[in-house]
Amino acid sequence: FLTLGIESSCDETSAAVVKNGKQVLSNVIASQIDWHRKFGGVVPEIASRKHVELMNPVIEEALVKAGVDFTDLSAVAVTYGPGLVGGLLVGIAAAKSIAYTHDLPLVAVNHIEGHIYANFISHPQLEPPVVCLTVSGGHTDLLYFEELGTYQILGRTRDDAAGEAFDKIARVMEIGYPGGPAIDKLATAGDAEAIDLPRPLVDEASYDFSFSGLKTAVLNYINNQKQRGEEISKPDLAASFQQAVVDVLKSKVTKAAYDKEVNQVILSGGVAANSQLQRELEKELTKVGIEFCYPELKLCTDNAAMIASAGYFNWQHNKEEAPFTLNANPSLKLK
Ligand code: ATP
Ligand code: MG
Ligand code: FE
Repeated sequence: FLTLGIESSCDETSAAVVKNGKQVLSNVIASQIDWHRKFGGVVPEIASRKHVELMNPVIEEALVKAGVDFTDLSAVAVTYGPGLVGGLLVGIAAAKSIAYTHDLPLVAVNHIEGHIYANFISHPQLEPPVVCLTVSGGHTDLLYFEELGTYQILGRTRDDAAGEAFDKIARVMEIGYPGGPAIDKLATAGDAEAIDLPRPLVDEASYDFSFSGLKTAVLNYINNQKQRGEEISKPDLAASFQQAVVDVLKSKVTKAAYDKEVNQVILSGGVAANSQLQRELEKELTKVGIEFCYPELKLCTDNAAMIASAGYFNWQHNKEEAPFTLNANPSLKLK
């Protein structure tokens, strides 16, 4: 069973061919980072136009790399939300035309559910129940689930997403875009205890997160240093900020793992690529006998293999075909 996955919810145009939901035959990702970098963030209008340009060549390349033809496919899975409406519409239009022309089932996939499935590609033996922390550019959700497809949301961010905080801080520090990888790298040369920053909501019983206060604290620190004419050590600031984020995420995840009495914890979304988050959660959880895993790097950030995988399992589970009237849903929620 070969699933063609299509992803265009943000600034990556991606297509992938996945066999039986877990075996990635190809996963082509055309990143638009170079076009958005000078604006310090994703410009929706540019993203839509780039998706239009890149979509067909990327699909073509995914088929060639997998060594298959449209006629070999068994289904087409596409992200229909959440994300930027213009980009989503480009992917949906491509998926519909392929499904229609080749008489294939069209499967609509939630992008965040896709991020979760990346773990099940990288770790084929993994089985729920799990506690899952989804940390990406637009989401920070702490989830528990006993089976794929139905997710209990334990907590989520009340304001900024974790990835968004990384991107915004990197922007004011002028260290590059996207911010996550830039801060991750810079932090290795800094002292995480150099600057005292808050750990928002860390002592609260709830599983919710908040990152906007932390962002403000960093901004205030930068302004105060400037006013006093004192130098800012960018590596120290990067390390201190990253430590604050990791401390908060780690404490909530560990608490959820205990409360839910799970043996496994998984990480998903772009921020799952953060080396310190991976390292510290690994240490904290394995110490108490909880297995911890995260997707391989290429599957952490946006890609179509995870969409094909989620689409395959949804299809196997309920044979639910999306109608040709399928529309984008920019604020789609997880079930
Ligand atoms: P969403 O998935 O919520 O719709 P998105 O698709 O834009 O949002 P992803 O592509 O999943 O987000 O992840 C991108 C985010 O991950 C960016 O905010 C980026 O800064 C962050 N990120 C990537 N690598 C790292 C890293 N090494 N450390 C921290 N953050 C990272
Ligand atoms: Mg992206
Ligand atoms: Fe994403």
